[in-house]
Amino acid sequence: MNKRPLPVAVCATCAHIQYDADAIDKPCRRKDGLMRCNGKRRTSNDDWLECPTCYATGRDGSTVCLACGGRGWFEKRKQR
Ligand SMILES: [Zn+2]
Ligand SMILES: [Zn+2]
Repeated sequence: MNKRPLPVAVCATCAHIQYDADAIDKPCRRKDGLMRCNGKRRTSNDDWLECPTCYATGRDGSTVCLACGGRGWFEKRKQR
């Protein structure tokens, strides 16, 4: 099974991730019910942790990995 590619952009508001570099600095536009996220996307951190449950494949057996929501990666939060 192939690993998911590393995300390149992440919404600063809802943390929705994108794999398209063109999405950086554009509004998120993610639909959440009737609301539409207007958060700004930023370049993702270089530091991503491979999901220990699915090993970055985004799949857990025949279903989407619940631990990472199918993303395969966790953004490493910078600790203060
Ligand atoms: Zn968003
Ligand atoms: Zn996972």
